[in-house]
Amino acid sequence: ARTNGTVIDRLVEANLRYAAGFQDPGMDARPVLEVAVVACMDARLDLHDALGLALGDCHTIRNAGGVVTDDVIRSLTISQRALGTRSVVLIHHTNCGLESLTEDFRHELEDEVGQRPSWAVEAFRDVDQDVRQSMQRVRTSPFLPHTDDVRGFVFDVTDGLMREIDPAV
Ligand code: ZN
Repeated sequence: ARTNGTVIDRLVEANLRYAAGFQDPGMDARPVLEVAVVACMDARLDLHDALGLALGDCHTIRNAGGVVTDDVIRSLTISQRALGTRSVVLIHHTNCGLESLTEDFRHELEDEVGQRPSWAVEAFRDVDQDVRQSMQRVRTSPFLPHTDDVRGFVFDVTDGLMREIDPAV
């Protein structure tokens, strides 16, 4: 329990403890498992624990929804072309905050602040379909040299299990 200071003060203190016990793993920047994981930023999703990943194993690229945006393609392109990854795992999850939003969110923003964001909200109703769309965006990107091992899943936040999404349905 935090007694004083801001939440970021608490994080900085935790880092001091972390660094005190840290030993340089002597790792290269290239992910050991040659895999990039694209996932929602959801706080209930602990990618390393859920997938049995260790430090240095993978790239993790996260945003609201785990949506494959242009910036995710940017990161995947660098991941594959400069840092040697070959596989892409896409992870959405149950009870995602984006399911309760619509593109009206953009209009509400515009009404409030006087300008419309350049980005799409990427809200969705059907999480399976959104995973399929994300897989399709990765597979059809002209910038990615490795698109033969792209798989998508929905993580259940209540039982921790991932359900694979068939891209062909
Ligand atoms: Zn989410």
